[in-house]
Amino acid sequence: MEEGHFIVLSPCGVCRERLAGHGPDVQVAVATPGEPSTLQWISLREALPHYWLTALPEEVSDWVA
Ligand SMILES: [Zn+2]
Repeated sequence: MEEGHFIVLSPCGVCRERLAGHGPDVQVAVATPGEPSTLQWISLREALPHYWLTALPEEVSDWVA
């Protein structure tokens, strides 16, 4: 690896699951498609478009909007 080079690792499934407890508006950094050395910020709702717990809206009222 050349010095000073880095890549962005988007949050894995475990991390996304842990973040979900803070609600859908949490901002997460993900790698820019096609440019893995740059990042972009998206909401957790965008990162988890089919969040499983929304099947139980009483558990995650902030996710069901
Ligand atoms: Zn992780």
